[in-house]
Amino acid sequence: MIMENNIKKSSYLIEIEGIVQGVGFRPFIYGLANRLKIAGTVSNTTGGVIIKTGSLSHVELLSFIKNIRDKSPAPSVIENISSKEIPQVKYHSFTIEKSSKTENRFQLISPDIATCERCIEDIFNVDDRRRYEYPFTNCTNCGPRFTIIKEMPYDRPYTTMDRFKMCSRCRAEYSDPSDRRFHAQPNACKECGPELLLTDKTGNLIDKKDPIKRAAKLIKEGKIIGIKSLGGFQIVCDAVSEETVKKLRKRKSRPAKPFAIMTDDIEWIRKYYRLSSRETASLMSARAPIVLLKKNGSTYPLSRAVSFDNKYEGIMLPYTPIHHILFKYTVYPLVMTSGNISEEPIASGNDDAKERLCHICDHYLIHNRDIYSRYDDSVVRIFMDKEMVLRRARGYAPYPVKINGHLGNKSVLATGAQEKNTFTILTRKYAISSQHIGDLDTCRSLEFFEDTLKNYKSLFGLDDFNITAHDMHPDYRSTKIAIESVKDSHSLFPVQHHMAHIASVAAENNLECPLIGFAWDGTGYGTDGKIWGSEIFEVNSDLDFIRVGHLMEKALPGAAAAINKPYRMTAVYLRELWKRNNDDNMGLVDYIHANMAHGPATMEEINAICSQIKTNFNSPLTTSMGRLFDAVSSVLDCTHINTFEGEAAISLEMLIEEKYIDDIFKRDLKTIEKKYRYDTIIKKSSGKFIIDDFNLFRQILDDRKKGTRKGLISFKFHNTLACIVLEISMDHGISKKIKSIALSGGVFQNNYLLSLCYALLKNNNFDVYTNLKVPVNDGGISLGQAYFAAVKNNLIKKGENYNVPGNSC
Ligand code: ZN
Ligand code: ZN
Ligand code: FE
Repeated sequence: MIMENNIKKSSYLIEIEGIVQGVGFRPFIYGLANRLKIAGTVSNTTGGVIIKTGSLSHVELLSFIKNIRDKSPAPSVIENISSKEIPQVKYHSFTIEKSSKTENRFQLISPDIATCERCIEDIFNVDDRRRYEYPFTNCTNCGPRFTIIKEMPYDRPYTTMDRFKMCSRCRAEYSDPSDRRFHAQPNACKECGPELLLTDKTGNLIDKKDPIKRAAKLIKEGKIIGIKSLGGFQIVCDAVSEETVKKLRKRKSRPAKPFAIMTDDIEWIRKYYRLSSRETASLMSARAPIVLLKKNGSTYPLSRAVSFDNKYEGIMLPYTPIHHILFKYTVYPLVMTSGNISEEPIASGNDDAKERLCHICDHYLIHNRDIYSRYDDSVVRIFMDKEMVLRRARGYAPYPVKINGHLGNKSVLATGAQEKNTFTILTRKYAISSQHIGDLDTCRSLEFFEDTLKNYKSLFGLDDFNITAHDMHPDYRSTKIAIESVKDSHSLFPVQHHMAHIASVAAENNLECPLIGFAWDGTGYGTDGKIWGSEIFEVNSDLDFIRVGHLMEKALPGAAAAINKPYRMTAVYLRELWKRNNDDNMGLVDYIHANMAHGPATMEEINAICSQIKTNFNSPLTTSMGRLFDAVSSVLDCTHINTFEGEAAISLEMLIEEKYIDDIFKRDLKTIEKKYRYDTIIKKSSGKFIIDDFNLFRQILDDRKKGTRKGLISFKFHNTLACIVLEISMDHGISKKIKSIALSGGVFQNNYLLSLCYALLKNNNFDVYTNLKVPVNDGGISLGQAYFAAVKNNLIKKGENYNVPGNSC
């Protein structure tokens, strides 16, 4: 120790955890240290960033750390800074040391980052010979990260850029600490970096000189182009041409599910969509997700076939140089959809794309920078002024959710659900959810799952897990993967689907229980072997779940057939009404047929459905909320057949007349509770709330017969459900003194329902929580499984700051 003017001076070791690699962190520290006249070194290790300083006073140390926290580069995230005194070291200057591999250390990984302003300037600077219109321009503040990392630490030889040898000028930028491209691992230019080509559908070269300009011309002519983007292929076409969009729908076998679009013109967006400052911020963020924006009712500027009657549009801004250059030559918005067939994983390799997308694309823009990890575009909406992630991939994964407590040296794997699959690894104080993998119905998605899990295990330095959590459904592929992956079956831990939904809300909000959880969705395997989907739980402080309510049980005739064909559920509801009270004295089949809307159901099919239910043939019992939405949607002649998951429910939400939605939050909510709703019958049976949804359905049918406008019926239907949430919360919450309500499950993707539940509960002094960081749909299941399994196996230790050397600042 040195005493100078009676001030104690020491050397310090400062350790920084978080996303601090591949985000310009070391050059930032280098610049900061020079400015503050601090000598020492900074280095990347597999554990984070380590700074060693020369002699500093304690005040100087604190000021250095404060500056690190306050001024760190935008894409970085600091989770923890710790410091400790070390034996005196004499340094003459501040230097950046070579990366070192430290075994058994853990480090967070940066998601890919949208092209930054300064790189955009480079791309459009005609005087910049090396980077003018160069589609792989990037710097330490932007560009690919997670998608190109093969191993840690994040250094060029461990990325898919290893095959490109930097030219002398790129090398000079890379080695100059004052350069924006200092240690930018994917740094490249026209001379030395990856190349883009335009080919025809069979792979013949069309253009090598101006491939993007040429592609823009082809798009204008109505062609459909497959573009190799950051995390996989995107299928791109003109979003204005009705003919082209319809052609794409036909080729992609996607009749109705809305397409996302891309535009570079924020003023165009403002003209046709409602755009809040929070939505603008999300659109323009470095994560650059698809943001769901509400159409503002002015003349629709795109082909109707882009999103049909959906009130929302999925819109994103350009996020790679390829997109920016494409929009230089394109003046209208483009459809930009994942390069896959239905729910299969996105194609990422050139050959893979040519094989799988050959029936869809006329041309391809391909390149030779390999994509190591596939990565779909993420989808968000703004809810209550916060970003709510509905599909979590590019820009978000593998950034973790921080949990309350830590796991020490233990870890948990959760394999997620069958649909919208993600897995989650719980280690230290982090829940690391994988990017969206998709539905596990095909060999390709299973391969994607296996590859991604292998990658995460390697990147985060994990071999084995103490617990492997999975869904209770015996037929989910994710359950089978869990069972096959463990050496010892004692480490398996099944988690009920809806409990996982609610546990995910507890995990991401660091919630202290007790709480009441509403887990409403389409399908989930119950502890009694029935198909649940409208579950209401009381959750106590030990995370024990008591099922305190649900809809009435009913048959699901034909199981999957009933899920795909909402009119079959209409028949189920009508059958019960006939049994309860048939005023017309009609036969069962006649009654159902007479009361169904003009759907595709024939007398023969209705007959078959009825005998299927009567004989219990392939008709499991369900309490699914999703199926109630289906039945109502079909009886209102809205959607009879689901061509994608949730279609009937979405179209029912879209029926609600806009004037009602606009008014609702300005109005006294009491009017909704009293006037714009149906009567509810909630029976209490052996301590459970049983919601009589047949009674609700009967009132909807009566309203339809009276000729009530469908927009009003849908409005009243949604309001009734929100009132049910409030009534049960009040009843159970007051008797049990519970103030926290958790809402999760695919049904709460319904923006109107979620907003109204939120408003009603808040109005009655409840604290309301839902999923924002992970999807409220089955994409969030794995987080809930992992957290629930860790709590139940006593793996989470609260309060101690584990594995952080020195004093935490
Ligand atoms: Zn940049
Ligand atoms: Zn170069
Ligand atoms: Fe679910």
